[in-house]
Amino acid sequence: MLDKISLDWQKIHTVFLDMDGTLLDLHYDNHFWLEHMPTRYAEKHQLQPDEAKKQLTSRYEKIKGTLNWYCIDHWSEQLEMDVPALKQEVFERIKARDNVMPFLDFLRQKKKHIILLTNAHPKTIRIKFQQVSIEKYFDKIITSHEIGIAKEEAGFWDKLHQTLDFDRQSSLFIDDNLTVLRAAQQYNIAYLLAIHQPDSQQGVMDTEEFTAIKCFQQLF
Ligand SMILES: [Mg+2]
Repeated sequence: MLDKISLDWQKIHTVFLDMDGTLLDLHYDNHFWLEHMPTRYAEKHQLQPDEAKKQLTSRYEKIKGTLNWYCIDHWSEQLEMDVPALKQEVFERIKARDNVMPFLDFLRQKKKHIILLTNAHPKTIRIKFQQVSIEKYFDKIITSHEIGIAKEEAGFWDKLHQTLDFDRQSSLFIDDNLTVLRAAQQYNIAYLLAIHQPDSQQGVMDTEEFTAIKCFQQLF
């Protein structure tokens, strides 16, 4: 039995939730970008698998953490490949983390304002929602593509606040990316939680100054 993470739910009105690596297992995304994409890329360019991986990794690294990194239209254009179609090919790996639905049910019962706050591209969100039906739980779905800045970048929260009414003192934000959490911390979001193991098939993360969720059941 895991220890409960105690939060003062009375004081929390808005709950911002990241999608990939937080509500959903990051295994799908890692598998897609680090295995499936290199395989298809190698086929297209008649490269050895290792060479394909090397070329792609260097392209990824150049724009990691920017909005383009999360933009599958950008990658479709850059790589001259139909990225949404490739994503569909391995869709069966899209999975929710354990106890995500009961947690979302709990938030609804508590009448919290539930916002999906993701860097994922709208086309990626659509593919994920086809496989995992969590769409109905959210009061609002906001992608950084409509805000115009990635969540890890300075100014994101200011811009978000221009389009959405929320009080930072009564907001909880859960995300598996420490850079993203630190940007929220800078903005004084009161309650911040990280994820212990974003990808179920990789090691656990050192979440440094942030308390990490091992299982969503720790929250309710
Ligand atoms: Mg994430």
